[in-house]
Amino acid sequence: MIQVTVDMDKCQHYGQCCFEAEDIFQLDDDGKLVYQAQASDDRLADIESAADVCPMQAITVEQS
Ligand code: SF4
Repeated sequence: MIQVTVDMDKCQHYGQCCFEAEDIFQLDDDGKLVYQAQASDDRLADIESAADVCPMQAITVEQS
């Protein structure tokens, strides 16, 4: 299982992460980031890509 955490103090809701893993990260109708805090292991590559492209380095990924 993958644990996803976004530091909402850092996140500026740019949405780059949404393009990398759109099933995990979305912008809601108000343009605010919403995300799944847990994901299956097969989503690791895309979630790590999302963390890499985040300009604020706000995404933390842990695998348990
Ligand atoms: S790419 Fe980073 S700053 Fe942009 S919405 Fe995603 S977590 Fe927030």
